[in-house]
Amino acid sequence: MELKILEKNEFNLTFQISDISIEMINALRRIMMSWIPCFAVDEVIILKNDSTLYDDILAHRIGLIPLKTDLEAYNLPEDCECGGTGCPQCQVSLTCEIQNDSNDILTIYSGDLETNDPNIVPTSPNIPIAEIGKDSGLTFEAYAILGRAKDHVKWQSVSNVFYRKKPIIEFDDSKCKGCPDKCIVSRMCPEKLFEYSDNSSPTLKKDAWQKCTLCKSCEDNCPNDAVTIGSEDNAYIFYIESDGVLTFKTIIEKTFEILDDNIVEFSEKLETVEIE
Ligand SMILES: [Zn+2]
Repeated sequence: MELKILEKNEFNLTFQISDISIEMINALRRIMMSWIPCFAVDEVIILKNDSTLYDDILAHRIGLIPLKTDLEAYNLPEDCECGGTGCPQCQVSLTCEIQNDSNDILTIYSGDLETNDPNIVPTSPNIPIAEIGKDSGLTFEAYAILGRAKDHVKWQSVSNVFYRKKPIIEFDDSKCKGCPDKCIVSRMCPEKLFEYSDNSSPTLKKDAWQKCTLCKSCEDNCPNDAVTIGSEDNAYIFYIESDGVLTFKTIIEKTFEILDDNIVEFSEKLETVEIE
């Protein structure tokens, strides 16, 4: 297996992966999507709600706020010594107590939540929760626990994860000479991978294969058949988008740990089954 990072920033990781089957790469995608635990609010006690939102809508909004997660310091409720009833090893509390004494409408943001663990905080302080008017208040206690997205999407540790086959773009610009069309390909490509000005032949951008979505609009529309789009066998470009609840390093390490655990569990269960 070969792995090469193509792009990495705070919220996106793109890498090329070769010599891997589609079944294996899809297993990795599904684990990242559904199995990696992260924190989300699971219980809200609303003591005062003068906003225009019903209590259940407010609780739903609080549940969807992404929280930075420390997987080393906390247990999943089902694995905790407390049996899941809630203790400092499996639960974090977030409180909010705000009274609006001004004449203006006040917006309450995720940054207004106070937590009992400074490591477990909203990934952004700018997520609006509710608005309250003059002489109004909002007071609630919320309890966050670790969970998995296979049980509820609020525990999804990545915003998006997908892959596509590695494109092979073959472009023969010698076929462009005398083309009556003002390069329809450069206009059709949704990723604008072809550069064209009136007095020159079109050129294919360097590293266009990293951005190509394999839509084949170039191949289908070029009147001179100058472009051919194919894809490489067993080579993929893998994209992970994160909202910051976990680092990319943790996401990838955890993915392989869960894959190993699932394989071990499967083989153990297989031994207990009589296969005729
Ligand atoms: Zn516990």
